[in-house]
Amino acid sequence: MGKKMLVIGEAREGVLRNVTFEAIAAAKKISDGGEIVAVLCGEGDLKEQGNEMIYYGADRAITVSDVKLKTYTSEGFGQAIKAVIQDESPEGIIMGQTAVGKDLTPKLASQLESGLVSDVTEVAVEGGNIIFTRPIYSGKAFEKKIIKDGLLFATIRPNNIPSLERDESRSGEVTAKQVDIKDIRTVIKDIIRKGSEGVDLSEAKVIVAGGRGVKSSEGFEPLEELANVLGGAVGASRGACDAGYCDYSLQIGQTGKVVTPDLYIACGISGAIQHLAGMSNSKVIVAINKDPEANIFNVADYGIVGDLFDVVPKLIEEIKKEKVNA
Ligand SMILES: Cc1cc2nc3c(=O)[nH]c(=O)nc-3n(C[C@H](O)[C@H](O)[C@H](O)COP(=O)(O)OP(=O)(O)OC[C@H]3O[C@@H](n4cnc5c(N)ncnc54)[C@H](O)[C@@H]3O)c2cc1C
Repeated sequence: MGKKMLVIGEAREGVLRNVTFEAIAAAKKISDGGEIVAVLCGEGDLKEQGNEMIYYGADRAITVSDVKLKTYTSEGFGQAIKAVIQDESPEGIIMGQTAVGKDLTPKLASQLESGLVSDVTEVAVEGGNIIFTRPIYSGKAFEKKIIKDGLLFATIRPNNIPSLERDESRSGEVTAKQVDIKDIRTVIKDIIRKGSEGVDLSEAKVIVAGGRGVKSSEGFEPLEELANVLGGAVGASRGACDAGYCDYSLQIGQTGKVVTPDLYIACGISGAIQHLAGMSNSKVIVAINKDPEANIFNVADYGIVGDLFDVVPKLIEEIKKEKVNA
């Protein structure tokens, strides 16, 4: 008998985040042929997003739309999702380990009197057990967890579990559920975005990160251009943030964001353990540093010993040439 799984989707400005599709793929692996129900909260007509979740593998989608759900609050989203959980009685719940996921899921788990395995990077089914793998000790080791009793409740780290192929021929029911959202004590009046525009750092496939070696905020310009030509995002070490070269929203590491892009290009970053904690699980790491002894080279797949202000423009030039020839 398969397991019925609920996937909590997430959208930003009406656009579903990729981690929603990755969560559907993880749920599918766990479900053993059971039904995958995706849920999305927001405002206005969410049918299109509901269909999109079906194209990526959900069997059904439930949308909860209300003006009070226009922006995320744990009270509003919590009430909406709890109502869906009560209706559906899933055996498992999966959500992304995003800012919203990190805030919402522990609260939901405690209200449901359930455990929660957070920040999962891999799910596998072995000998009838569902095994959740998650990094511990700032990424220096991995632990494998089995849930023996109760809800299979987990959050997955973006960019680790590949989503299924989008298949527009898939069809399923999209139900708009009415939930009477009460008592929201937090009123969000306005959201002011700070820092970077464009590609979201935690979900970016390519990150070009700068450290103290970038030397100034203007020094980040070539890095921005490189990120641009690669369709990626710019990140930073705490050294660069502390020096005032960039905003703290770009900080990667133990006390910043944890990222796992396909390609991480570290420019002028020494590779302190606290920085590695946020990026060492990236699939391919390229380090550019003028010190051949820099610790970053110990985790890099490709190392370039040189001045980043010589190397980065050359990389941009070569990538642009490749694009023209492609
Ligand atoms: C509790 C705690 C939490 C922390 N959390 C974080 C965190 O989340 N993230 C984080 O990043 N750090 C964190 N740190 C700070 C961390 O220990 C380091 O101080 C920091 O990562 C150093 O930043 P950096 O590599 O940019 O600077 P540096 O260590 O100063 O390195 C600069 C590098 O640039 C190279 N360089 C200089 N000029 C050039 C050039 N022109 N071309 C090429 N290379 C050049 C140098 O050779 C050097 O290797 C934390 C520290 C503590 C104590």
